Amino acid sequence: MELSGLQIFKYTPAAKKLQHTNCKDCGCPTCMIFSMKLAKQQIEIDKCPYLDEELKDLYLQNIRQAQKTIEINGLKIGGEDVLFRHEKTFNNPTALAVIVDCSIYDYKSKIKEICDFELKWANEIFKVDLIILKNLKDNLELLKKSKEQSKPIFVSYEEFKALGFNIIEEQDFQVTKNLLIETRCKAIIEKDENYSAPTCVVMKKDDEYSVCARASYYLCKYANMIVFQAFDKNTLLSLIMLRQNIYTDPNKTLQVDSGLYEFNNPDKTSIIFLTTNFALTYYAVASELESLPVPSYLIVVPAQGMSVLTAWSAETFNPEVVKQTLEKLDIKNKIDTRKIIIPGLLGEMTEELQQYCSDFEFIKGTNEASDISKFVEKLLKK
Ligand code: SF4
Repeated sequence: MELSGLQIFKYTPAAKKLQHTNCKDCGCPTCMIFSMKLAKQQIEIDKCPYLDEELKDLYLQNIRQAQKTIEINGLKIGGEDVLFRHEKTFNNPTALAVIVDCSIYDYKSKIKEICDFELKWANEIFKVDLIILKNLKDNLELLKKSKEQSKPIFVSYEEFKALGFNIIEEQDFQVTKNLLIETRCKAIIEKDENYSAPTCVVMKKDDEYSVCARASYYLCKYANMIVFQAFDKNTLLSLIMLRQNIYTDPNKTLQVDSGLYEFNNPDKTSIIFLTTNFALTYYAVASELESLPVPSYLIVVPAQGMSVLTAWSAETFNPEVVKQTLEKLDIKNKIDTRKIIIPGLLGEMTEELQQYCSDFEFIKGTNEASDISKFVEKLLKK
């Protein structure tokens, strides 16, 4: 349990109506401000000499790191301090690793396959985090050379064992699941140092569907690293997407860069769509434009990562912002098309947009991205 500013305040002279109330010796104008700052660890507890030992013990226990962080070549694993993402945020995504047995004849092609695997999503490239080389023997040169690349990171099996993880060799799903939950609760709630090592589940060999299902659970609760005995692209793709949903910071919106995006090699006469830079809106529209039978452009307006209606009500998407974006991207000179299709939800804005950006005609598009193909079909028939 985190100590809040108000809980700390109860221990100060001001709350106890004692001498030194709001004395400013700590550099803060009041005991309340000191308490708020202390809760955020913006001031040291020793700055106030009038606190009793009970608070000091409580506070020190409170700020003790709940879970240790293990760092391998810049990859941070563990270091979590909450049980649930909405309490603050998770710090380091579950690392995904694959064991490669160097005693099998085609291990080099296995390593190449794992190294070549990548997923591009939301302006990021995701790869397997670690390759653990078993039975390395005389292939140390391979390990040395591959350590120069950022991902996947190579470690020998012996190095992996010595990293300091709480390694759970998976035998039974229920047992593993309960162990993970118990370990995380002991570390976070009780701050029990015996449970502070990041957890690593080594999956048992099984069919890929079962491995994927069980690993998905462990990724949610609460494995810091999952090690696979075999490399399966589909399992990794599913887990990376799941991980992205869990390990995003709830305080930050997912957004893409504002700009002009091209689909299917457009020319100067191709149709133009326009939307906000909220990542989910962008990807919904982009996937529809990719599958259209005609090329197109998509203008993405900087709207602080808000979806269409939210941006409109927060005024981060308004005619002025659209005008500035069109000018910045030099749409007038780059493209001959003068019609721009805007989200259907903003249909009311077309007249106002017309007044601000008189070089273009604005057309009300669809409310849902999934209706874009029918909309374009009709548009082309006109
Ligand atoms: Fe309050 Fe600060 Fe004085 Fe302590 S030092 S009693 S916190 S004002």
